[in-house]
Amino acid sequence: EKIIIIGGVAGGSTAAARLRRLNEESNIIIFEKGEYISFANCGLPYYIGGTITDRDKLLVQNVKDMSLRYNLDIRIFSEVIKIDRQAKKVFVKNVQSGEIYEETYDKIILSPGARPVVPPIPGIDKAKTLFTLRNMEDTDRIKSFINKHLPRKAVVIGGGFIGLEMAENLHDQGIKVTVVEMSEQVMAPLDKEMAAIIHNHLQEKGIELILGDGVKSIENNGQSILTQKGNKMETDLILLSIGVRPENELALQAGLRTGKRGGIQVNQKLQTNDPSIFAIGDAIEVNDFTNKQPTMIPLAWPANRQGRLVADIINGKDVQYNGTLGTSIAKVFDYTVASTGNNEKILNRLGKPYEVIHIHPVSHAGYYPGAVPIALKLIFDKTSGTIYGAQAVGKDSVDKRIDVIATAIKGGLTVKDLPDLELAYAPPYSSAKDPVNMAGYVAS
Ligand code: FAD
Repeated sequence: EKIIIIGGVAGGSTAAARLRRLNEESNIIIFEKGEYISFANCGLPYYIGGTITDRDKLLVQNVKDMSLRYNLDIRIFSEVIKIDRQAKKVFVKNVQSGEIYEETYDKIILSPGARPVVPPIPGIDKAKTLFTLRNMEDTDRIKSFINKHLPRKAVVIGGGFIGLEMAENLHDQGIKVTVVEMSEQVMAPLDKEMAAIIHNHLQEKGIELILGDGVKSIENNGQSILTQKGNKMETDLILLSIGVRPENELALQAGLRTGKRGGIQVNQKLQTNDPSIFAIGDAIEVNDFTNKQPTMIPLAWPANRQGRLVADIINGKDVQYNGTLGTSIAKVFDYTVASTGNNEKILNRLGKPYEVIHIHPVSHAGYYPGAVPIALKLIFDKTSGTIYGAQAVGKDSVDKRIDVIATAIKGGLTVKDLPDLELAYAPPYSSAKDPVNMAGYVAS
């Protein structure tokens, strides 16, 4: 069987490795339009900031080793520009030479990812200081711009994960950073009162935060920015990070179904409306695990999970993708911000009634040095106890509390089960009543 994978990073390379482990016979070709496969997208901000010093460490697999190890035909600088479903072939463009050739297939796995949204802001095309961050090429561009021009001031447009990670990493380079965010809060997965903790912390760290305001125009070749509310700021560097949109052009051209926000639609077998074409990762629409509605959740866990599952499915295993919970985490200076499931904003939009509790336990036994408070929020259904979501912000061990609750949600546990979770305890780590147990007691 000849399987073509389009996109060779998170989802694509996971699928390829698993396909090979399951079947030694299949002919597997990966087409990647960039230079690199399987690089660590999530590490890019930390390389720019200098926490990760060795660029090679970002390249998780190189073409030569991966091809040999898994017996794969990996073609970089190779963009698939068209799928002919009737003839079952793809058209591939060598982006270096411009040459176009055809390749037949039995099955396709689409894992083309999502690209940064670049709105038509006046002056944006002339802004020589403006960058987006998606891949190694972007990273190299930003890094060499910083080294060459030694920017003193930067504006980050968009206060999501990548925006805030970059704000911190630019700040670590000695750059004065302003974050401009259109909504009234940063970090959309949080509700506003939780985000407020992060607002204070960012300001404490010397980040200027402009909320509820968008960029109106970029002037002077990217040396200044004018906002809709009339703020004007000078800048040496602009990072645009207002979200991503699915790479769906190939799918659209091939007549594959896409959803409201452009995500490629798949069934639980990760199959598009063409049974020989599968799609995974940031490019697809998923079902929200909590509320079952279609949504887009561009994160690395879903891409990896789907990459493995799609290989299993192609090899006849009876498995399926059960939806995305959206569990996420980020470091914002001294704080960790994490969440899972639905927040109040989503539940309100769906008109779903819910109950909320907030607790402020300490990260471990208060009498053992280093205990710090955690703000933990749990959202649930009062009658059934169904857990809709949780959010936590704090300086220590926020991750494990959210991970435990994420596990509880996927396991179908209710708030009434949380007190009964028997979690690891000794004074340096937790309390005999863990914050998750506490949340359960308060909620039930
Ligand atoms: P990608 O990994 O983006 O791979 C898609 C590849 O397809 C690209 O290399 C692209 O060049 C190629 N391609 C597209 N179209 C074609 C075509 N027509 N022909 C050939 N090749 C094509 N997620 C987290 O969960 N946690 C994090 O901390 C985190 N941090 C991140 C930080 C940054 C800076 C970025 C950019 C992303 C981060 N993510 C994080 C998101 C995560 O990286 C993505 O969810 C994940 O990479 C998606 O995998 P994918 O396979 O769908 O797409």
